[in-house]
Amino acid sequence: MQRKVLVTGGAGFIGSAVCRHLVAEGASVLNIDALTYAGNLESLATIGNAPNYRFAKIDICDRRAVAEAFATFHPDQVIHLAAESHVDRSIMAGDAFIQTNIVGTFSMLEAARAHWQALSGRERDAFRFLHVSTDEVYGSLSENGSFVEETRYDPSSPYSASKAAADHLVSAWARTYGFPAVISNCSNNYGPYHFPEKLIPLIILNAIHLKPLPVYGAGLNVRDWLYVEDHARALDLIVAHGRIGEKYNVGGRNERRNIDVVRGVCAILDRLRPMKRPYESLIAFVTDRPGHDLRYAIDATKLERELGWRALETFDSGVEKTVRWYLDNEWWWRPLREKVYAGERLGVIAEEAGQTSARSPASRLAQATIGN
Ligand code: NAD
Repeated sequence: MQRKVLVTGGAGFIGSAVCRHLVAEGASVLNIDALTYAGNLESLATIGNAPNYRFAKIDICDRRAVAEAFATFHPDQVIHLAAESHVDRSIMAGDAFIQTNIVGTFSMLEAARAHWQALSGRERDAFRFLHVSTDEVYGSLSENGSFVEETRYDPSSPYSASKAAADHLVSAWARTYGFPAVISNCSNNYGPYHFPEKLIPLIILNAIHLKPLPVYGAGLNVRDWLYVEDHARALDLIVAHGRIGEKYNVGGRNERRNIDVVRGVCAILDRLRPMKRPYESLIAFVTDRPGHDLRYAIDATKLERELGWRALETFDSGVEKTVRWYLDNEWWWRPLREKVYAGERLGVIAEEAGQTSARSPASRLAQATIGN
């Protein structure tokens, strides 16, 4: 029988990759999404008319609408991705993060629990709820070591704290009600359809427009990168075969310093779209993000061993694909750059911004963004 998967946040970056993957796999998919600034139905253009795909504009905090979606769609599985996801925006205003990431997850848990409790027999045994979370809940690593599933939670930003709170709610629902939930904690994703506020697409698009390439601090912060389609496959495996009440770390073993990521993108652009001087000359070091975690690294051994998952994309092959995708798909990003987000600096605390002098190009760039 065709499995039915309810995806939340399916108009976002990872959610749209999950929907495209599931539809291609033959699952019946209902995507519920509030279409915030980060939600974009254009990312689903390739599956928009597929018979096994449906979309409903729903805010996950709206408990009545969510309950109705469960009642009419009757899902076997839920993959919960809807969230406010940008750390810099959480620094400027935490409200939506608390509302969607915590209250919204509570709303999803309650609707899913009511649905599950009304099921019986095989349907009840098979029902799963996958909560998609981040490695940022673990806080920052020093030079060595990596996050395992048992690593203590120690979030630094309003974003990661709201995701940590949501993870705790999900674990509590599994322990208290025996609710069949699983949690995944993934490292930084990149790939096609990535909203241009995030590092890699921001760098690609600023470079194409010959604008400064902002690098926070000295660019020495390390992130562990995963190609978004590898993440989508991992989530499908976890929702199907993950053990109830367990957590799974997802990561591609691709640690890179931010400055090296930016230089790598520049080198690819030098090859694919050469200009008079190297793109690297556009790099501008800007005021660091407050509370910026130094390093994230994921140990994905549990997922690899238990569920046989492997990242298929290396960082070099994935970034090359991504740069080529942005060069070929201006139709997707141009409206976003023109109408939603033009590349201005986010996440500067007002007080600190006021103290920043306009002496260097870097601080001018930071200042230019204040008030946006
Ligand atoms: P995104 O910001 O691109 O997309 C979020 C989606 O959620 C958007 O389509 C938005 O419209 C929707 N949404 C927001 N508030 C909503 C609400 N109240 N009701 C319904 N829909 C709402 O985010 P993303 O990068 O695709 O991340 C998806 C999930 O994966 C998030 O839960 C995030 O915490 C997690 N995650 C992201 C990364 C990453 O690198 N991007 C890494 C690990 C985990």
